[in-house]
Amino acid sequence: MIIILKPDPDPTQLESLQSWLRSRDLDIHMSQGQTSTIMGLVGDTTVVDIGQIRMFDIVEDVKRVQEPYKKANRKFHPQDTVIPLGEGTIGGGSFTLIAGPCSVESKEQILVVAQEVKRAGATALRGGAYKPRTSPYAFQGMREEGIALLLEARAATGLPIVTELMDASDLGAFEHVDVIQVGARNMQNFALLKVLGKIDKPILLKRGLAATIEELLMSAEYIMANGNEQVILCERGIRTFEVATRNTLDLSAIPVLKELTHLPIIVDPSHATGVARYVRPLSLAALAAGADGLIVEVHNDPAHAKCDGAQSLTPEAFSELSDAIAEMLPIVHKAVIPAR
Ligand code: PEP
Ligand code: MN
Repeated sequence: MIIILKPDPDPTQLESLQSWLRSRDLDIHMSQGQTSTIMGLVGDTTVVDIGQIRMFDIVEDVKRVQEPYKKANRKFHPQDTVIPLGEGTIGGGSFTLIAGPCSVESKEQILVVAQEVKRAGATALRGGAYKPRTSPYAFQGMREEGIALLLEARAATGLPIVTELMDASDLGAFEHVDVIQVGARNMQNFALLKVLGKIDKPILLKRGLAATIEELLMSAEYIMANGNEQVILCERGIRTFEVATRNTLDLSAIPVLKELTHLPIIVDPSHATGVARYVRPLSLAALAAGADGLIVEVHNDPAHAKCDGAQSLTPEAFSELSDAIAEMLPIVHKAVIPAR
């Protein structure tokens, strides 16, 4: 349920409305917009009589929210959520470029890639240290050592780091990580999501291989309901009957999510396609569709990468992509954002 307040509500009346709602065991989520204030109510609102709420003078309107996700719902929070990332932000009109290898392989590799992507204009460095591989015999990542190397790369370049956590028992190793990634295979690992709801770090939540948009939003809701509202959604392709690409990038998810939620949405064209030469066209398409950024795999030697070499851009190709994005951005800002 949401309550829309009249402009400049009287503070004493607001206080009495809030205590009236709290006495009915409801959590209140305040959202201050430019013209109005919205109170989002979480809890069993079936017991609330809308007529009684309307009796408070400061109330403009009251609406029931049908969707099962509340805190992630744009109706609760009409303005875009903006999340700090390094010296910049993600969401709210900026375009974030996260780039780096699928996995951290060595000190030299991660330092070279970090420097290259930084020079090309990346805003954050990605790199897997704990890898969710389909085969138990494949390279599983450098684990703590990989995180230590990412931190060295951050110290050398200033780029904030984004890396995947698969198991809550490894959380201790992530203390200095800037953004924790939840991989597609873990999107509905509710125990993990609850743990991440208790920490104060942005969470990059990837859409599951066969998850609907509503299921993605419910997973975001798990993190938010547990206290952490810094969630970045990531469309990374879903499984369809098509086998020409690794997955099918669901570009429609971008405008749909923009309508349904205030959370930032980024796109991973690398895992979506599995093919390096398709990464650029889909990156530009994601930008045109209104995404808040990209997460792209870049490797200094894709042919010898320990994982996902076929979809990794060379630093040169990434730099060309970054230039194309810079050229397209002003046009997209003019054409796409006001249309929402
Ligand atoms: C990754 O980003 O390295 C990864 C494994 O992605 P996903 O979880 O989307 O497959
Ligand atoms: Mn990968």
